Amino acid sequence: MADPTGHAEHAQVPIEDAPVKIDAPKTVAAGLPAVVESARQAVKEMGVARTLRVLSDVNQHDGFDCTSCAWPDPSRPSVVEFCENGAKATAAAATKKTAGPSFFDKWTIDELARQSDMWLGKQGRLSTPLILRDRRYQPISWEAAFTVVADHLHALKSPDEAVFYTSGRTSNEAAFLYQLFARRFGTNNLPDCSNMCHESSGMGLSEVIGVGKGTVTLEDFEHTELIFIVGQNPGTNHPRMLSTLETAKKHGARIVHVNPLREAGLGRFKHPQKMRGYLGTGTPLADVFLQVRINGDVALLKGFMKHLLSEEARRGVGVLAREFIEKNTVGFAAFKRDIERESWDVIERESGIKAHTIRHVADMVIASERIIVCWAMGLTQHVNAIGNIQSIVNLLLLRGSIGKPGAGVCPVRGHSNVQGDRTVGITPRPKAVFLDRLGAHFDFEPPRRTGYDTVEAIRAMHQGKARVFIALGGNFLSAAPDTTYTAEALGRCSLTVQISTKLNRSHLVCGRTALILPCLTRMERDQTVSVENSMGIVHASRGRLAPASDKLKSEPAIVVSIASATLGDEAFWHGFATDYDTIRDGIEAVIPGFDDYNERVRRPGGFVLPNAVREGRFDTLDGKARFTVHPIEPSPLADNEFLMMTVRSHDQFNTTIYGLDDRYRGIRGGRRVVFVCHQDAEEAGLRAGDRVDLVSRYGGQLRTAPQFTVVPYDLPRRSVATYFPEANVLVPVSHTARMSNTPASKSIVVSIHRSA
Ligand code: SF4
Repeated sequence: MADPTGHAEHAQVPIEDAPVKIDAPKTVAAGLPAVVESARQAVKEMGVARTLRVLSDVNQHDGFDCTSCAWPDPSRPSVVEFCENGAKATAAAATKKTAGPSFFDKWTIDELARQSDMWLGKQGRLSTPLILRDRRYQPISWEAAFTVVADHLHALKSPDEAVFYTSGRTSNEAAFLYQLFARRFGTNNLPDCSNMCHESSGMGLSEVIGVGKGTVTLEDFEHTELIFIVGQNPGTNHPRMLSTLETAKKHGARIVHVNPLREAGLGRFKHPQKMRGYLGTGTPLADVFLQVRINGDVALLKGFMKHLLSEEARRGVGVLAREFIEKNTVGFAAFKRDIERESWDVIERESGIKAHTIRHVADMVIASERIIVCWAMGLTQHVNAIGNIQSIVNLLLLRGSIGKPGAGVCPVRGHSNVQGDRTVGITPRPKAVFLDRLGAHFDFEPPRRTGYDTVEAIRAMHQGKARVFIALGGNFLSAAPDTTYTAEALGRCSLTVQISTKLNRSHLVCGRTALILPCLTRMERDQTVSVENSMGIVHASRGRLAPASDKLKSEPAIVVSIASATLGDEAFWHGFATDYDTIRDGIEAVIPGFDDYNERVRRPGGFVLPNAVREGRFDTLDGKARFTVHPIEPSPLADNEFLMMTVRSHDQFNTTIYGLDDRYRGIRGGRRVVFVCHQDAEEAGLRAGDRVDLVSRYGGQLRTAPQFTVVPYDLPRRSVATYFPEANVLVPVSHTARMSNTPASKSIVVSIHRSA
């Protein structure tokens, strides 16, 4: 099946010409530079008056929820309740600029594809529905656009030839309607961005503690004694978390930072809303930094647990939470045997951390009753990701440090409502009870076949099994692995539909027919919507800004219009768009925990969803938490091979690029950089600024990412780091986490070759 529009070429992020400037990494986060950069980007996009008006609404009870990460808001938000990256996200979405018909008149998709991702994103808000004709986007009426979608869906041999993708920015209301439409259409093909980020957390936790979400609240950080931050960079990806960590330190907590990269955010923190954030040297956050090897976490965690078990044997009592283990857990004996069998040599070699250091931190665990472990992609994007997450649970169970104040698990979500979307039914693997309740309430028989997750959807499109791709938000191509393969997959669709706010590369890699349907952002005037943050709090979001164009529609309005154009029954569907309370009534009827949804969501701060573990219960099959056994999985490397992890820069949120700097890591003016361990660079004769090509070889196939600038950096031996989406071309679609099928973007074997 030929690729009619040459997508592979469009898919690659253009190579930058300008040389990258390399400075020393920072050791202090936030402070005045964060304020200056927030103001600079905000005023550039919105002007002064709009900046003051819009930023004063972010994360306020009667305002809108930040569209960036999912770190929760305090119960009493401060006047300025946003961070630098929240300001950048808001400015990008509330920009005064628009990209309308006159803009697209000037550019073919080939010409647009030669622009950088940052340039594409800064062209302004999409302002009218568009259809691709003769390689140029042209205006189309909403009615005609909905008819195009309905016609393509009707032309499919099976509903399973359609894929309904969701990005984590989608509100609960739009997501619930979207899944209802897809299921009434007849498919469970509902992949979402969570498949590429915390799917491993959800699956790993559900299996061992019975809930696929974090179990702690913000208040728990004031009651905890020890916090682990593992495979997460809060300084860039969840910046307000630094204030929470500073508060925890004030309450006596100690912090252990576990990461191959020493991140400034866990060095010293200068609170930009406190005088001390300007006068002093900042609050030191991490007490211990463990520079673990890439994917060395299971070895490290087993080292902690091995020390706990040997100390229990030596001291007799007081190390393990014996009563808790006996009463609440199963699987301890097999787990204990496995840990005792593990050798310290293997633990040291595979973790990259000396045994005495591991024992030192393990003693901090023994001295703490209340321990919180936070993590992000550094644990979830590996082949053995489930093992990473369940090993964390093993450690906490040994100390009985879960299900009580100041203790538990805290997977920190990267997208503002990714958790909410999953809660209201965005999943290709819905539970039978959910489908029963959905079918009963809306009087239809939902499909029971498991749908495609993100990786399966890419394969299905590539194999021609899926032919219509609809994305509710997001930048699928750039977020996905295996860029060339994914581009070919999208190119083989008869129709691709992007429901978007800003131009991105996914608009340039599309099906034979391609539509862009522009929607409102969260800060624009619409009915109240709601989101769920990382800690299971559902709260309202209300925008007050005038829409960027009078041709925009809200996400719910677009979904119901496509649904009624495709399935008919206009009255049924449009009722929802007329009054979002009716959508919430549907959610309340189908999903436990949303009682009195419409009343409670309007309370300041919203409401907390039930979480069995917080109530001291483990909703597993046998009502017990489960100890599990996970092998240490070395990553053998040949000479000239390195283990690569993809990361975000400080000027990026997922695939949205706000700027070309990565201030904390000392990078200015470019993104095609490869951080290489100092010693490895020296041994390879590589110097700062050298240009190299990165090559991955999987399944006999070579994938190349050319022209990266070498940045010698403080990293474990044989480890390199690059930014996504630039390096996603190196990540094979087949290289995924077991069980969760999450692309293993944090451990890709690459070789480095001087560029020609
Ligand atoms: S911490 Fe996250 S949610 Fe909060 S303002 Fe910053 S980016 Fe937005």
